[in-house]
Amino acid sequence: MITPVIPHWTAGADLIIVGSGAAGLTTAITARDLGLRVIVLTKAEAGHGSTRAAMGGIAAVLPEADPADDSLASHIADTLAAGAGLSDPDVAEAILRAAPAAIRDLTRLGMPWDRDATGTLARGTEGGHSTARIAHVQDTTGRALSDVLLRQARTAVAHSDNQILILEHHTAVDLLRSSDNAVVGVLVLDQDGRRGLVFGAVVLATGGIGGVYEQTTNPDGALGDGLALALRAGAKLADLEFVQFHPTAMFLGPGITGQLPLVTEALRGHGSVRLCDNTGAPLMQGVHPQEDLAPRDVIAAVITRRMRETGTDHVFLDARHVGLDGFQSRFPTVLADCYAIGIDPVRQLIPVAPARHYLCGGVMSTIDGRTGVRGLYVVGEAARTGLHGANRLASNGLLEALVMGTLAACAVRTDRCSGRLGQLAGLRILLAPTARVAPLATIRAVMSRYVGVDRTADGLATARRTLADVTTSGPLDSVEAANASAALLVARAVITAADTRQESRGCHQRRDFPHRAHQRHGLDVVTVSLDPTTGSTALAAWWSERTTA
Ligand SMILES: Cc1cc2nc3c(=O)[nH]c(=O)nc-3n(C[C@H](O)[C@H](O)[C@H](O)COP(=O)(O)OP(=O)(O)OC[C@H]3O[C@@H](n4cnc5c(N)ncnc54)[C@H](O)[C@@H]3O)c2cc1C
Repeated sequence: MITPVIPHWTAGADLIIVGSGAAGLTTAITARDLGLRVIVLTKAEAGHGSTRAAMGGIAAVLPEADPADDSLASHIADTLAAGAGLSDPDVAEAILRAAPAAIRDLTRLGMPWDRDATGTLARGTEGGHSTARIAHVQDTTGRALSDVLLRQARTAVAHSDNQILILEHHTAVDLLRSSDNAVVGVLVLDQDGRRGLVFGAVVLATGGIGGVYEQTTNPDGALGDGLALALRAGAKLADLEFVQFHPTAMFLGPGITGQLPLVTEALRGHGSVRLCDNTGAPLMQGVHPQEDLAPRDVIAAVITRRMRETGTDHVFLDARHVGLDGFQSRFPTVLADCYAIGIDPVRQLIPVAPARHYLCGGVMSTIDGRTGVRGLYVVGEAARTGLHGANRLASNGLLEALVMGTLAACAVRTDRCSGRLGQLAGLRILLAPTARVAPLATIRAVMSRYVGVDRTADGLATARRTLADVTTSGPLDSVEAANASAALLVARAVITAADTRQESRGCHQRRDFPHRAHQRHGLDVVTVSLDPTTGSTALAAWWSERTTA
């Protein structure tokens, strides 16, 4: 006899947003202000995620910038140069052009920007930027941003009873689909492990995938859940091979895993801060015209090579010139993190090593978050718009999240008004769907060893085989199972993409294909999707010029 499984609770809204970082909250606030009823589901407490950890700031060419110093064209050129030939120029222009409005909106909401003596927004610089254009709040921009957005999301709107409902410790484990494959809601596990069905159009704002590696700058929980949900719902992913490693995560000691403190790139942008190896020899001199402010992929590759040559597991950052005043006023987080490991950065070198930081690819979407699946939208780091290409330019990530959030809310309203969302009729619900799972520790070890800064076909094949050997099948009936399933699917998708791109470009470095291949089309892209002919287990990858969702 089959025991029927029934949901413990149900809820509904016009829009269900999965994630409460910058992307999710911006979408929620805009949608609420447009009159949509909004539910935000979030895996931990509200605001937990990479947004809160962000340090350097938000890149924008502001109207007050002297045209001799900076321009939209210059910001676009820097973005395309960092993207190593794969950023989409039209997407870059659209998103970067919207930056001043995003900064203005945040200022209106009370963002406590650092300002100079005249009251003008202070601007810093980071790797790959040709000038100082990054608005910031000390080295705690993300915390300030998260506080501002959460406050606004929780603020009652005058003359309206339309409030955003934020459900903390609620994990999205599967998407609900109608008989014509539109997404019409989410299967959720609440903090007590009870199953809920939440109906509405769905925006995935689930952030990055740092947690599928052993060492990462991302807070825990960044396992690519949104990518797995989207894949299983029939959406395409792209640019997954471009996993950005931040060159300067703080080195805490051999074998230390989990979230590592970031030594923000803004520190190098402060001036006179140099990377050096264990003999004190400078690392970046003569290697790249921008030296210590070269794009991240370049610096991470140089550090990795030098560590291999010298048999060490870290290098150093010499930031002594910043001085105590500089650290206290501009980089208090870095100072505190240094003190926590017994380093005085005013007198000593800071030990650093590359760590997994940002996923340049994600769910293929337009800049207003539309995926190829009706009723399903994606925003922020989980999305792949084409802005970042093969390597994200520093501080363009938060900007993309903010711009997409605003546009996606408008897109949902438009689609709703024009009847383009899915209907609940013919709903197919599996309350206890099964999925393939593997131990997180094995996934992390495999990804770190074989799918890190430099890759080979043999290593990728070993990674695939090792994961296959430890994979089992089980019901998605707990948050642990949902985590293990998402991480496994995402790891397999990244391996598939990395194997398919047989060249070295941006964040994707192949020791067996060390050069950049001739671009066969205007914008080559590796797309990954679940193969519909074999059910939900085999991933298919294509290398093509197609860049639409
Ligand atoms: C240390 C650090 C420093 C950075 N500094 C900068 C910077 O200075 N400038 C810049 O532009 N970028 C920076 N970045 C990158 C940037 O912070 C992120 O790309 C950006 O914040 C992503 O925002 P998001 O809203 O897409 O995701 P996140 O802020 O990561 O939010 C994801 C949300 O999804 C939720 N979630 C995930 N899965 C589920 C699920 N299954 N169910 C329910 N909820 C779920 C999480 O709980 C979380 O609330 C930095 C990143 C890090 C880690």
